[in-house]
Amino acid sequence: MTLLELKQITKKYSQADQFAVNNVSFSVEKGEILALVGESGSGKTTLLRLIAGLEHPDDGYISLAGNKIVEGKKSVPANKRNVGMVFQDYALFPHLTLLENVLFGLKGKVQNPKNVAKDTLNLVGLSENVKKYPHQLSGGQQQRVALARAIAPGPAILLMDEPFSNLDAVLKDQVREEIRLIIKETQTTALFVTHDTRDALSTADRIAILHKGYLQQIDTPRNLYEFPENGYVANFFAKQNEILATSTDDGFYSTFGFLSDERSKLFSNQVRLSFRTESAVVGKNDTQAMSGKLVKSTYFGDHQLLKIADEEGRFITIRANANRIYERQSVIFFSIEKFMVEEA
Ligand code: ADP
Ligand code: MG
Repeated sequence: MTLLELKQITKKYSQADQFAVNNVSFSVEKGEILALVGESGSGKTTLLRLIAGLEHPDDGYISLAGNKIVEGKKSVPANKRNVGMVFQDYALFPHLTLLENVLFGLKGKVQNPKNVAKDTLNLVGLSENVKKYPHQLSGGQQQRVALARAIAPGPAILLMDEPFSNLDAVLKDQVREEIRLIIKETQTTALFVTHDTRDALSTADRIAILHKGYLQQIDTPRNLYEFPENGYVANFFAKQNEILATSTDDGFYSTFGFLSDERSKLFSNQVRLSFRTESAVVGKNDTQAMSGKLVKSTYFGDHQLLKIADEEGRFITIRANANRIYERQSVIFFSIEKFMVEEA
């Protein structure tokens, strides 16, 4: 069942010369976690604020749980929209205890607000700390208070802006999983904004990618990674290698060698082959037809990246097993298992 639907949402701030959000349409299913990803300035926060009712679009339509909340110039005010919001800096009240923070949004909305607040803090694992103040908590705990405050009134949808960006790397993996479990346990529908592809890939059921205010693609993490619809989406998840090649009857010929592939029949001239670092396989011997000279290897513990040059000094980077040591300037043989072909 569709819970949130956006149709052709467009927004330009009065001082700006570019549209912050441009003709964006998508929907979110009940119970789903959708991640909205994009570079800084791509319109993520604006889109979230438009859904929350903190901004009004120039054009478009939004419905939430069967109610039209935005239609043309008409709009339901933010406090009547039944959305829960977690802000990037958590925006907790420093002079209120955790319990008071969560109670704040509940007055007049539920019966027995105190019980609901306590239950929700219990749910996020903070029942021991209800009398503490925000500054007495770790970043991850403050995050959970903000989450408790947002979900306590039982909103139709939970909106979170960069919820993991203030956490250090170690804490982040753990908090991300905790938050995901709480959202799923409470069967909350959630939309969160992030610029970090790892957050999105690991936490979301589906991901929407924004670029310069335009929606590029919306799909499951696996489909976006494996079947990107354009070069922007492909590069967004992991920088792609690009090689120029000439198509022949049975493959592509490049400065790194020959790559046998049936798709060559579809192209008559110069092509651009693009592939990810992990799509190349390093060979033990010279049975593989592609090769180049090792310029540099970078060790990452669980893998290493080999930077390889052709005779003309063009580079590609491929991923290899961490346990083998390759000499600089040695010839590395490899094959490419999966790649995209485009007319150059
Ligand atoms: P993101 O959250 O993806 O970083 P934003 O939605 O904050 O992007 O911003 C999208 C674009 O709108 C940017 O070009 C930004 O500079 C502009 N913008 C955001 N807020 C305002 C504002 N209040 N007034 C004018 N321009 C704004
Ligand atoms: Mg933002």
